[in-house]
Amino acid sequence: MSAEFNKEQPLERPCQFIKGVGPRRAEDLSRLGIETVEDLLLHFPRSYLDLGAPEPLNRLQAGQRATVRGRVMASGERQPRRGMRILSVLLEDGHGRITLTFFNQPYLKKIIRNGVEVIAAGEVSLFRSALQMVSPEFEILESEPDSRSMLERPLLPVYPLTRGVGQRWLRKLLERVLAMPEFTGELREILPQEWLTEMDWPGRIDAIRQLHFPADRGSLERARTRLKFDELFLLQLLGALRRKRRQEEHGIRLTGGDRLLEPFLAALPFELTDSQRKVLKRIREDLISGGRMNRLLQGDVGSGKTVVALAALIIAVEGNMQSAFMVPLEVLARQHNQKWAIPLESLGVRTALLTGGTPAREKRRILAELKSGEIDLLFGTQALIQEGVDFARLGLAVVDEQHRFGVMQRAHLLSQGMPHMLVMSATPIPRSLAMTLYGDLDLSIIDELPPGRPALVTRLSSESKLPEIYSFIRDRLLKEDERAFLIFPLVEEGDKLELKSAKEEFEELKSGVFADIPCDLVHGRMSPAAKSEALERFRSGESRLLMATTVIEVGIDIPEATLMVIHNPERFGLSQLHQLRGRIGRGTRKSYCMLAPPEMLGESAGERLTSFVRHKDGFKLAEEDLKQRGPGEIFGARQHGRPELSLAHPLLDAELVELARIRARALTDDDPELVAVDLRPLRSLLLRAYKDRLVLSGVG
Ligand code: ADP
Ligand code: MG
Repeated sequence: MSAEFNKEQPLERPCQFIKGVGPRRAEDLSRLGIETVEDLLLHFPRSYLDLGAPEPLNRLQAGQRATVRGRVMASGERQPRRGMRILSVLLEDGHGRITLTFFNQPYLKKIIRNGVEVIAAGEVSLFRSALQMVSPEFEILESEPDSRSMLERPLLPVYPLTRGVGQRWLRKLLERVLAMPEFTGELREILPQEWLTEMDWPGRIDAIRQLHFPADRGSLERARTRLKFDELFLLQLLGALRRKRRQEEHGIRLTGGDRLLEPFLAALPFELTDSQRKVLKRIREDLISGGRMNRLLQGDVGSGKTVVALAALIIAVEGNMQSAFMVPLEVLARQHNQKWAIPLESLGVRTALLTGGTPAREKRRILAELKSGEIDLLFGTQALIQEGVDFARLGLAVVDEQHRFGVMQRAHLLSQGMPHMLVMSATPIPRSLAMTLYGDLDLSIIDELPPGRPALVTRLSSESKLPEIYSFIRDRLLKEDERAFLIFPLVEEGDKLELKSAKEEFEELKSGVFADIPCDLVHGRMSPAAKSEALERFRSGESRLLMATTVIEVGIDIPEATLMVIHNPERFGLSQLHQLRGRIGRGTRKSYCMLAPPEMLGESAGERLTSFVRHKDGFKLAEEDLKQRGPGEIFGARQHGRPELSLAHPLLDAELVELARIRARALTDDDPELVAVDLRPLRSLLLRAYKDRLVLSGVG
């Protein structure tokens, strides 16, 4: 298969070899992530200029989006301050007038000259009681003859641009390249013809053309859906191929006896929920199947993922294998060890704790006992995957809060004899997104909370009400054995000034309203050990009120914590707020989460907080949260070049994700090597798109 990937592939040629694109322009293009001809062809418009039906200028109203058409009567440039130039262009259409305003684009002066006819689209606003459009999309109607044909199109593409790459130039370039058979001939169809017929989708080449220069809205939408599917399908195929390969690997076959598991479950102070039981059953099946498990376990905050993971680890120990439980924070590792070491040891399971803070001598002992196989279960942080940590026979690795770790870290654990993997996430990711991000994982969801959870009330209050909130907290803390969190998010955890003012606030509260209550502070500049100690004092009740500047969001489990005040909640995203709130309401008492934003709130922040108060369900909140962000952001820092998804959105296109997943799995079940002749174009596209993520030899 690797033979198919070569520099002779015309689509892989650098842009500078296209006629009319020299090295300088090629460099400009590369700032848009466009390196190759294929990148260029897949650089899609962000919107379209509708040349069809301009609105008469006397009928416009402020606030409306409109397309207008008129002749330039006058134009002028101002420079209100250094570094800002404003170009104003007055347009007239025989019915009325409008001003087009452009910032810092001095070259436009030469393009939008007096007398030329302009079509522009944008939002109409009022400026000194006259109509204007700020930074509209526009096109000159009387330009050179060769762009006439372009203007006969009903919808003109509007591309994302960068310095040195103008709209008109890019349009013409794409029009030219789309007319070069040496390139377009290489854009092969990748989907079976039956699928296209069934879905009424255009072919791939046709769809790419339509996206750049649509014939009409209808064809544009069909083409867009088709190309979204392609993006999702390739990603799913990548996952499906990896999954297939994994299933064919030999996994460690565990016995699945319950000499240890049964007493462990029996000793718990609660019964597993149905949902926990179901997930555990699936995991057990995986572990005894003979294949290798790679499973993502999702569950809302407090749904009880930890015991399920521990039960799985015990199955491994029962099968005479070692197991590892990795968490992202030292305090969490300690918390797990503290809570579970004794019950596990009493079953005869040898446990140990390894973190960055483990003293050198103890660390040496642990490493030796891991290697000799004496330790059965190791709790720890990233320290687990350091150089020198060698397990004698690792059977199962659990990675908690897995989004905090990278792929490489998972890979590192796998290098220890290919153990079964269970990764867990408390940031609930909607199913379609999880499928997009982790196509090669199997997915389990704990979808109910343990019964008997007390009421958790969330209130949207405000900064000015803080005195009342504080006195409420004080009363509760004096009367009951409860704990309270005060959260002060810093804009930047490293900022000394901000930290100083937070500390001052802490001192003030400590010697003021909360003078008769033991208080503590944790912040991001403390050492992990000092943080752990502060949390420990809080857990034990030595301190009762914990002020935190660091986001203490993940995993902290203190049943007595019932009160939380969040200052500046508008600085957090919904998922983060949900994680924070999940720190309270874990015991048996009614809990209160109070939000104290400043009085003046932006509209979107206000909506976010209101929806946070309304929804308790983490999945709902995550969905709301993610819908507001683009795919690029969801995938985090994108690699250079084209983003994996530029058209499709993993949430908004949930149905297409599902379809792509089903089709990708079916295809790889039929033909795991993609060797059929008509799959060749698909194979080469997959290789071009994901060459760095596919181990070539393994795929074909
Ligand atoms: P998360 O899924 O957020 O990691 P945890 O595993 O920390 O949740 O569980 C939250 C709390 O609920 C813990 O104190 C845990 O002991 C408790 N718990 C877990 N399962 C149950 C259950 N079935 N019934 C009652 N309490 C449970
Ligand atoms: Mg947890």
